[in-house]
Amino acid sequence: MTPLRHHASSEPLIKVENLCKIYSLENGGNGTVNSQVLFDVSLTINRGEFVAIMGHSGSGKSTLMNILGCLDTPTSGSYWLNGRDIAKLSDDELARVRNRNIGFVFQGFNLLKRMTALDNVAAPLLYAGVSRSESRKRALERLQQTGLGKFAAYQPNQLSGGQQQRVAISRALVNNPQLILADEPTGNLDTQTSGEIMTIFQQLNREQGITIVLVTHEDDIAACTRRLVRVKDGRVVHDDEVPA
Ligand code: ADP
Ligand code: MG
Repeated sequence: MTPLRHHASSEPLIKVENLCKIYSLENGGNGTVNSQVLFDVSLTINRGEFVAIMGHSGSGKSTLMNILGCLDTPTSGSYWLNGRDIAKLSDDELARVRNRNIGFVFQGFNLLKRMTALDNVAAPLLYAGVSRSESRKRALERLQQTGLGKFAAYQPNQLSGGQQQRVAISRALVNNPQLILADEPTGNLDTQTSGEIMTIFQQLNREQGITIVLVTHEDDIAACTRRLVRVKDGRVVHDDEVPA
């Protein structure tokens, strides 16, 4: 059976307009200095897209990702996720959006050290109020989906980097998010393992229609996506399809 192919729709999932981010830093008792990191970033990402964000270190990629993930707020500008104005949500509503709608994957895996792979993956479900037994059942299905079913009882330090990233992807998937935000997910992995992780992301995008936004500084990783956004000094300087 050929898997169902999902295609990007023209319905915006993410719409940001004129985002600016200014950090205020303490200046050793001499007041504060402002440092602007994002300048009028406008970007629309439709459901089902697979987008790479590239740019030099310090260009504002993680700052943008943190805003898209509702982990941080812009200094000015607007963000609509699923048509909802993020600025109008309460802290509880924001926490729910992060937990239910968005899956996060980071360069450093961010797994809890003294917990098994299974419990790491189950954690967001427990947080969302799902029972322990149901959480574990769904967590195991997600580990199986990324090829790690046999490692459910392992702790992170007993797993390779690639395996830890699969656990993190399983965790990101456990609440059936519409959106996965991955900040340099292959940054700590060798070329072959990076390729395996990108294959998982491609399958999730193609077969389940999950929208993926992924930061990378490697051309061959970006080539696995379908749209490339380049950021330079806090501005979007390029935005185009990745050639097939
Ligand atoms: P990238 O992910 O592209 O490497 P970042 O978004 O992490 O870039 O950082 C962009 C700029 O913002 C950098 O100059 C960084 O030092 C600064 N920055 C990031 N986070 C903070 C913060 N919490 N406070 C002050 N400055 C920050
Ligand atoms: Mg970064």
